[in-house]
Amino acid sequence: MVTLLEGRPIAARIREGLKEEVERIKSTHGLVPRLVAVQVGENLASAVYIKSQRKVSEALGIEYELKGLDERISEQGLIDSIKRLNEDEKVSGIIIQLPLPKGLDFKNIVSFIDPEKDAEGMHPENLGRILLGKPKLIPCTPQAVMELVKETNVDLYGKEVICVGHSEIVGKPLALLFLDKFATTTVCHIGTGERGVLPDHVKRAEVLVVAVGKAGLIKGEWIRDGAIVIDVGINRVGDKIVGDVEFDEASKRAGFITPVPGGVGPLTTAMLMRNVVEAFKLQRNR
Ligand code: NAP
Repeated sequence: MVTLLEGRPIAARIREGLKEEVERIKSTHGLVPRLVAVQVGENLASAVYIKSQRKVSEALGIEYELKGLDERISEQGLIDSIKRLNEDEKVSGIIIQLPLPKGLDFKNIVSFIDPEKDAEGMHPENLGRILLGKPKLIPCTPQAVMELVKETNVDLYGKEVICVGHSEIVGKPLALLFLDKFATTTVCHIGTGERGVLPDHVKRAEVLVVAVGKAGLIKGEWIRDGAIVIDVGINRVGDKIVGDVEFDEASKRAGFITPVPGGVGPLTTAMLMRNVVEAFKLQRNR
């Protein structure tokens, strides 16, 4: 029998803990953590995220500020704005909303955020710390995936973990987090797919995480009996949102599976809030 790994109840539990922590911070320090979202130009997709970030922040007592910048801003102009936020003691966390307009290099820009204000955990220092096994702020989606896996109570030691997708924001940091738990970790990507060996790897997975963005990429019949299946993918098919895994067929074999929507997604914003609270604490301990 498959168990549905739903993100909402776990996210609600985490938010509850964070709300109490923000109240403690307020009574100790007389101020609350503050998240500043930097948005360059207007974008429909990021408008949805901004709305949800503001709603969750305010529910937890975290201050939320949207800093809108002109879409014609130069890379140096954006970096200068970030440097001012770094210096502002009232700002605990900074997030750069994606996508950025063409010509602005996110990987360069993110490296100018103070690593202890890096709410998304995408500064090279924070990514490097995962490699060293000494993380401070971890990217939100990999953190969300690890929370879901923790919920299964499965010991990862020596387990076959397959991550499909090797992006800097999901697949690569996630693979390092699994390695840190002594899981036998394989990362699959476009090369694996094009060589035609993706099914061979997926069939071995005791834990499968898919973060690609292609509906139906992972066939239900590839799922190993009893596997934990975490589907990060978000795809619009007609008027429906689906993941990368064939959900119905995979559910017949998996031990645990995340729904899409309602799996990883709801947890990601909770992890962002956790990072903002953590960032506040890091800055007070400098
Ligand atoms: P991305 O940067 O586009 O990465 C996709 C990855 O999949 C790349 O590593 C790509 O390899 C690989 N890939 C492409 N085709 C493949 C194939 N046929 N077989 C195996 N691997 C293949 O995307 P992302 O930002 O990591 O996001 C991935 C998905 O997760 C998207 O649907 C996104 O919307 C979703 N997402 C969800 C959340 C959430 O909170 N639920 C958060 C973040 C992302 P190459 O780069 O080498 O082509």
